[in-house]
Amino acid sequence: MSKEKLNILFAAAEVVPFAKTGGLADVSGALPKAIKELGHDIIVVMPRYYKIDKSKLTKLPSPLGVPMGDMGELWAGVYTTTLPNSEVPIYFIDHEEYFGRHGLYEDEKGGFKDNDKRFIFFSKAALQLCKMLNFAPDVIHANDWHTAAMPLLSKTMFYEDFLNAKSVLTIHNLQHQGNFDKGLMNVMEVGWEHFNSYEFESYNRVNLLKGAIAHADAITTVSKKYAQEIQTAEFGFGLEKHIRSHSHKLFGILNGVDYDEWSPAVDEYLVKKYDVRKFSGKKACKKDVQTHFHLEARDDIAIIGFVGRFAEQKGIGLIAGVLEGVLDLDVQVVMLGTGEKWAEDFFSEIAYRRPNFALHIGYSDALAHKIEAGSDMFLMPSIFEPCGLNQIYSLSYGTLPIVRAAGGLDDTIVNFNELEKKGNGFKFYDATNEALYHTVFWAIETYYHNPKAFVSMQKSAMKEHFGWDEAAKEYIDVYNSLIN
Ligand code: ADP
Repeated sequence: MSKEKLNILFAAAEVVPFAKTGGLADVSGALPKAIKELGHDIIVVMPRYYKIDKSKLTKLPSPLGVPMGDMGELWAGVYTTTLPNSEVPIYFIDHEEYFGRHGLYEDEKGGFKDNDKRFIFFSKAALQLCKMLNFAPDVIHANDWHTAAMPLLSKTMFYEDFLNAKSVLTIHNLQHQGNFDKGLMNVMEVGWEHFNSYEFESYNRVNLLKGAIAHADAITTVSKKYAQEIQTAEFGFGLEKHIRSHSHKLFGILNGVDYDEWSPAVDEYLVKKYDVRKFSGKKACKKDVQTHFHLEARDDIAIIGFVGRFAEQKGIGLIAGVLEGVLDLDVQVVMLGTGEKWAEDFFSEIAYRRPNFALHIGYSDALAHKIEAGSDMFLMPSIFEPCGLNQIYSLSYGTLPIVRAAGGLDDTIVNFNELEKKGNGFKFYDATNEALYHTVFWAIETYYHNPKAFVSMQKSAMKEHFGWDEAAKEYIDVYNSLIN
């Protein structure tokens, strides 16, 4: 039986435009709006990090008491506003000791030592908030390890308050599981009987994601292929068997794109907006990238862009292995990212030496948009990729992705077929330098020697649509399948 109007609590550690380190924030800023547009009541909850300006938010009159086991009760302030261009309320959990710092999960010295307590506190506060608001969720939607305690919390400690609530866990990236000292069980207060190898225990420590996989009523992940991959030893990060034993409740739902933000026709970061009919604006964007990065201003040269975390997951080892060879070709390469120190040093040294390579180490929304628009091709050779958003953004900008066939990259990118002149990008399979180099070479060859096919692929890529409206319907179907 499906319910016409569902009440949904959506809890996430990061939400665009308030705080973002990756795709989780994009999803959390867009999916709730699409769900609301389908006529459901949804509230979003996130931590009030230091960088979120309180003066633009409304403070709720009374604070929340949050029971923290053997640490006693701690207090949280609550602030609220709405997600931009929507009526979706978002609530911010404020607690100076836990969230009043720079960085979401880490600072220059590394990961925060109390991340376990910070996010158990947040998870419990989100449930307490529902009680305070008299908001009775039909569905509690948790995301990644940060909120992975919520499914069991709602069935134990908060049982009486959430009798009718079902829980959904979305895995945005299985690599990060929330692995902590087992003493956390005392702070969670779900009962030590749940500390066993079928639930929260892993190598005598607490694994929050593992517990949530056991207890959530449904699990979703962000592409159909990744839903398959996480059940294998290659991509399961040790949880593959556990996930297989819960695969009856596992669904793959591809992320959408917020086209209000990622479309060259409306993108405020671009020097010139463009669309499939007025495609020439892309040239101005290309020139803008060349100017910004002090590259030779040539509109005939191929530019390959990269935006992303410098992490092994993103295939930076492969990029490092082929970059010098690629730069010997007639091409410019632009990279924006931050992450592993060796990669930052390695790419910086090359940027210093090679005039056709430019690098920006850091995080910049403006540059991410400019690179999407100004490049001809977008490099994303990920080793694994739950969904991947940048390759989908690239399609919208007519920037053809060069990808490895992993997870969501495989689900969204159709390899160029020279005979049929079809496809929306260039795809390789083996995670080897050779495979990547040959594919980049092929893409550049196509750019120079088969421009008709290249441009026609760009234009058809721009017409593709990966809307949140479709994805939101799939989430609602999952929610409804739990309610009877
Ligand atoms: P992941 O979540 O694994 O990092 P996704 O492709 O799902 O990868 O999402 C990454 C998001 O973060 C995209 O919106 C991308 O544009 C953005 N991003 C990543 N690194 C940077 C950066 N250095 N500057 C600006 N945006 C970035």
